[in-house]
Amino acid sequence: MTHVHIIGGGLAGLSAAIDVIGRARVTVYESGPACGGRARSYFDKALGCRIDNGNHLLLSANKATFRYLGLIGAEKSLTGPGTPVFPWYDLEAGLGWTLRLSRGRLPLWALSRRRHVPGMRLSELGILAKILRAGPDATVETCLGRGMLTRRLLEPFAVSALNTPLDQASAALLAAIIRETLALGGEACCPWYPAEGLSESFIDPAIAHIARLQGEVRCGARISGLDISGGRVVGLKNGDETIPLGPEDHVVSAVPAPVARTLVGPHLPGFSAPDEFESIINVHYRLPEPVETRGVLDRAGFVGLVGGIAEWVYLKGEILSVTVSAANRYAGHAHPDLIATIWSEIRRAIGPVAIRPLPEAAPPARIVCEKRATFAATPAQDRLRPDARTDISNLALAGDWTATGLPSTIEGAIRSGSEAVKALGLVS
Ligand SMILES: Cc1cc2nc3c(=O)[nH]c(=O)nc-3n(C[C@H](O)[C@H](O)[C@H](O)COP(=O)(O)OP(=O)(O)OC[C@H]3O[C@@H](n4cnc5c(N)ncnc54)[C@H](O)[C@@H]3O)c2cc1C
Repeated sequence: MTHVHIIGGGLAGLSAAIDVIGRARVTVYESGPACGGRARSYFDKALGCRIDNGNHLLLSANKATFRYLGLIGAEKSLTGPGTPVFPWYDLEAGLGWTLRLSRGRLPLWALSRRRHVPGMRLSELGILAKILRAGPDATVETCLGRGMLTRRLLEPFAVSALNTPLDQASAALLAAIIRETLALGGEACCPWYPAEGLSESFIDPAIAHIARLQGEVRCGARISGLDISGGRVVGLKNGDETIPLGPEDHVVSAVPAPVARTLVGPHLPGFSAPDEFESIINVHYRLPEPVETRGVLDRAGFVGLVGGIAEWVYLKGEILSVTVSAANRYAGHAHPDLIATIWSEIRRAIGPVAIRPLPEAAPPARIVCEKRATFAATPAQDRLRPDARTDISNLALAGDWTATGLPSTIEGAIRSGSEAVKALGLVS
């Protein structure tokens, strides 16, 4: 029986495993102590509870992701308001509002004061068309305007989706996201996120599914090299051991771009991969009791902020969790200062709708800074992304940094795993 060896137990590797298991024997090699890579949950000793390395938001348009969740039986593990509603707060203006997208393609929401972005002009919708028409070298900033639609929706949407400063970010990559989301209407834009944790939704059920179908996941197994002979991978180096591959065996490399450069790069003439990255900061505050709020925030479970450092705040029981994207710009900031400033932003945005007052001083907090959260979604970096197929007949590439057409996202990572097993001819 064909044996598929998958290097890397992040979402790309697990997606490849899930697509092929049942048709082939599967082994996943993960160098870390647990699978999940950049989308994982763990017990944080200082806070005394489980947290995610970073908040992850999905939209109903993420078809490959929902398919994956269906295959592993975890489609009910996500939560969200069930409708395309987004509560927002402008910290500079001291103004809160709720964006309520209309379900269909026609942007009827833009005609209603109760549903649209306060201060926006209808003519600003033309910016979306400009982004959709942008050439491969255009940056997002050159497409945006100066009005409130830009400030209060397009900028924060683009920074979160691309995780890159907008004067450098690729308009074409943003267009790819818009085509699959906003352009299809609210039906494609319902927000979803894990009810419990990233691992509980995306990782643990996948591992259980692989185990049920006799697959194997080996954690603590770092693959340090490939043996190539006759245009095929014939062995994988793991410590002192070389794992031999049979003539029917295949390999999916689903490691991050910097690892792929050293692991597969030397065997693939002309290989290129993104080499510039952006960080994401998450700050998790642990409150003495669950934070309860009134109104739409209670229903949505999160709020988007503009005009400060914090961009998204998620209410997760006793944890208030904040995301800051394109965070290389905060590299020199002292963590205690960030914790205090972001807490004051949370108090301003959430304080007025919190059922119990939020403490004045920041509660115990953990900052998680993922330095290489995503590749920098610039036109130049986008050009460095390789296809899944390689010149080595039994090797394919996966990972959110491969040429998925999307920026670095869960959806891109999951699609890349599927593409890799298709490129090997294992799945049609
Ligand atoms: C803080 C943060 C917030 C994010 N927010 C969002 C969001 O809101 N929405 C969204 O869609 N996406 C978001 N993303 C992006 C998303 O998490 C990633 O795109 C996705 O998880 C990447 O998966 P991957 O499998 O391609 O890579 P990885 O998750 O990096 O997986 C690669 C795996 O390979 C393993 N590995 C490395 N070297 C070896 C080796 N030599 N041998 C064996 N194994 C090896 C690693 O340990 C890792 O587990 C966010 C990312 C971060 C960090």
